[in-house]
Parts: sequence; C-alpha cells; structure tokens
Amino acid sequence: MKQNIKYRSKKLYTKPFNKQKGNCSDADEIIKWLRKFGPTSRTDLAYAFDFSRAKITPLVSDLIRRGIIREGGNIDTNEGRPPRLIRFKEDFGYAIGVDLGATSVDVGLADFSGHIVACFGEPLVLCSSPEIILKRICEIINDLVEKEKIGKECIIAIGLGVPGPVDFSTKLLVSPCGLPGWEVYPIQEYMKQQFPQAEIFIDNDANIMAFGELRAGIGKGVDNFIFLKVGTGIGAGIVCNGEIYQGSSGCSGDVGHICVDKEGPVCVCGNRGCLQSLASGKAIAEKATHGALEGQSPLLSERISSKENKLTAEDVSVAAAAGDAFSNKLLQESGELIGETLAGVVNVLNPSLLLIGGGVSNIGHQFLSSIRRAILRRSHPLSTRDLRIEYSSLGMKAGIIGAVSLALELFQMERRD
Ligand SMILES: [Zn+2]
Repeated sequence: MKQNIKYRSKKLYTKPFNKQKGNCSDADEIIKWLRKFGPTSRTDLAYAFDFSRAKITPLVSDLIRRGIIREGGNIDTNEGRPPRLIRFKEDFGYAIGVDLGATSVDVGLADFSGHIVACFGEPLVLCSSPEIILKRICEIINDLVEKEKIGKECIIAIGLGVPGPVDFSTKLLVSPCGLPGWEVYPIQEYMKQQFPQAEIFIDNDANIMAFGELRAGIGKGVDNFIFLKVGTGIGAGIVCNGEIYQGSSGCSGDVGHICVDKEGPVCVCGNRGCLQSLASGKAIAEKATHGALEGQSPLLSERISSKENKLTAEDVSVAAAAGDAFSNKLLQESGELIGETLAGVVNVLNPSLLLIGGGVSNIGHQFLSSIRRAILRRSHPLSTRDLRIEYSSLGMKAGIIGAVSLALELFQMERRD
C-alpha cells in the first residue's frame, strides 16, 4: 500500500549536512541523518551530504545488507516514478525508555525506528530505596519484552529520565532534592548488570522530555525552545541551537529552585520560597487539600471525602472546569508565579517555543493562559515577538519517547567508538 509521506523539500536542508568533528564514518552520518529527519530518499540523502550517486549507492546497500535500514514507502510527487524512502529496519534492535517520576514510572518499548510498540506505567514512591525501584523497573521491562515476544538480547539500548540533576561525566544523580537514597547511586551499573547487552543512558527528566519534543513532537525543527516540566517538582529542559543545553556539569534548567518569595514555605532543597514549593502540581494539590478541609470550596470539600483527605492537581482542574472559584484562583496563582519566573528565563534565552508538560499537562487552559499572560506582561517585547507558549504535544508520553530517542541516538554514537 502506498504510504502518504509528505515530500521533503531539498531546500529545507542545510547543504552539505553539518558533519560533527571526530571519527564519524559516512554510514554513521546517514544513520544520524535518518534519526534526525526520518525516512529520506537516496536522491535527497546524496544531495544533503553532497555525495554523488555512485557514492551513496554502495553506502546504502551496505547498511541494508547489515540489516540496519530498508527501503519502503514512497514520496508523493507529481513527477514521474516516485522515489523510494530509506528508513530504519524496525527489528534491527529494540530500545527501552524509562520515565521515572517522584510518584510514578512509565516504561516504553520501541522498535529500531523509535516507534513505541508497548508501554506500561504505574504509581510508585521514589523515596523508597533505589534497589526496590530499579528491581521493579527491570520486572516491567522483562514483562513488556515477554509480552511482545522479543528476546531480551534484542534490547540494545535503555534510556532513563530521572527527577534530579545528572552529572553527565559520571552519569550519577547529584543532590536530588528529597531523594537522599539516590545520591550518586550507580543506576547505570545496576541496569547494565540486568541487561549486559544494552547500552544504558541516563539524563534529567526535563532534558529527556525536551529531547522527545525535539525529535518527535512539536519541537521538531525548532532550534531554540524550552520544555518546562511541572509535576511534583519543576524543572526545565533547554534546547539551544538544535541540541540539549546541559551546562558545564549537567545542572542546567533547574528553574524550580529559583526563589520567588523569601518568606515562602521551606522547599525540599532546604531553602525558602522556591518556585516549586509554591506552584508545582504538588503545591497546588496541597493548597487544594488545605482549602477543602477549611471549607473554602464546596466542590473540593465534597471531593476530598472520597479521596482520603488528599486531593491532586487534577482534582483542582476538574473543580475549576466545573466553575469552582477557589480552584480557578489556585490555578491562576500558580500559573502566574510560573509565568513571572519564566519571563526572566525568556529574557535570557529568547526561545521561540515554550512547552509546558509533566503531570500538569492535562489540567486545562486556565493554567496555561495564566502562564502566558504573566510571560507576555513581564518579558521584553522583542523576546516574546516570535514566542509560542503551548502544552507539550506528546503529553504524558514525552518522557518515554524522549528516553527512547536518546537511547537510540546515543547507541549509534557509542557503537562507533
Ligand atoms: Zn528549592
């Protein structure tokens, strides 16, 4: 069946494709290209790399022979015979993406093209010991692999997003707030013991989500954008010139601990009045619970009786949508605090896209509108002239898609060494 694939104009490409420094073969460059831009015809590949037809043909043939890529699907054109597309061979190997949050874990299994073929998520408490959590993650991976009838040895790469700063030279979590047991815990080593054939990659969860949007979401083709994860905590993944900006040691984007109220509540980091202690999903839920118990919202008070005296940010969203004034005020205040803080970030980085994701990505438009209003009010007009502010296009899947994309992309690079 002819697939409906939009023709990619050659003019969109930078010619020749920017080769990175280092020992990178032409075949590796083609693989990197396909990861970044998706299925491409031989003609477009040759054009992008400035290769002659005589040079591209044996390169592609060799990758097909090795089972890494295949030809399939046509480009829709109105002229002559439609060219065939070069794409990854789906069963060359499989990748696992893990999105580890403070209160839940999501695991995705993807084929070599990055397509998620199965996923599973469940609540968990991350302050349990790392051994217990990682053991459970391995069980979930093994269940997925078994269910999909894929040999465990076919897992070639595993990407993990973790809720805290990761030192990228050691791949260790450093001072993760509220998670003392995870401090420099050797996650990579643990996973490698369970899956010795796979390459293991770890990064901060907001970076991973930003990478997911960059490769497979609304951030595709956007060179400078910010992904703000708002869940139990708040953190940002920064895309700068088409790549994740990690800073000098891997601690970039930690906006959740910017002080917004010197007299505010004590944060998990030990400081007072951090943004996340006042505006995260957890803060919204705590304020809602308090308000409901104090009788400030009839709707929330009614809801809390069936919730063991513990509301969530989603409960607030439902009540706000039903017209509850207290809930609307809570979402508006949190959105404004986040927006005011982000206005400073926007002034510094001048992104063209700002995505809001994490646990709050489904709490309605009131929250997003408040963020948007505060940013537009507080930022320099030039820095917001081309700025779009949206919810994450990948929603709750941003983490696993990002982790899978990262694993498959870095796997290629590791293999080359
Ligand atoms: Zn803090």
